[in-house]
Amino acid sequence: MMKKAIYPGSFDPVTNGHLEIIKRASQMCDQLIVLISVNPNKSSSFSAEERAAFLRKVCYDIPNVRIDSCSGLIVDYFREHDCDIIIKGLRAMSDFETEFQMAHVNKHLCPRAETVFLCADSQSTYLSSSMVRQIAMFGGDISPFVPESIKDDITKRLLIKAAKEDK
Ligand code: ADP
Repeated sequence: MMKKAIYPGSFDPVTNGHLEIIKRASQMCDQLIVLISVNPNKSSSFSAEERAAFLRKVCYDIPNVRIDSCSGLIVDYFREHDCDIIIKGLRAMSDFETEFQMAHVNKHLCPRAETVFLCADSQSTYLSSSMVRQIAMFGGDISPFVPESIKDDITKRLLIKAAKEDK
């Protein structure tokens, strides 16, 4: 059994694809930290607090999952919090190339940082946060792609954002 795992990503916002990985990964470890990586140089649609609130809401019934965020290197967090494994989801070959590179870089920076890849469920291989944002911003229905409990909040906030940008 792996002890403490981290699942890092932008989660901007969390989708059914992320949630499916979280559920499977949480069964493989004692504790899973879903880690929102905050990059001040990269613009995001939702603040780290909003992203964390969405994640908390959809993970409330998974007892060994905790939500946290970090603005530095993932391996620094990994080391400081005494983690054992990094979890990543793989959708397609396009994910593989960047994730493969990232896994090697992380291992180079911290030799005990092993990355475990979980293949996306066939239902969500095509699903990304950016696709969800696009659909919602144009007033489309995102209910097949995100958990019901956060669907309206995502749409509302993105529509407000789109209206502000239009001004
Ligand atoms: P994105 O912004 O592309 O949706 P994130 O940075 O939030 O992705 O992704 C965090 C992790 O979750 C990455 O390992 C990514 O490959 C994985 N992931 C993202 N979307 C899915 C999905 N639909 N199914 C499985 N894994 C996913």
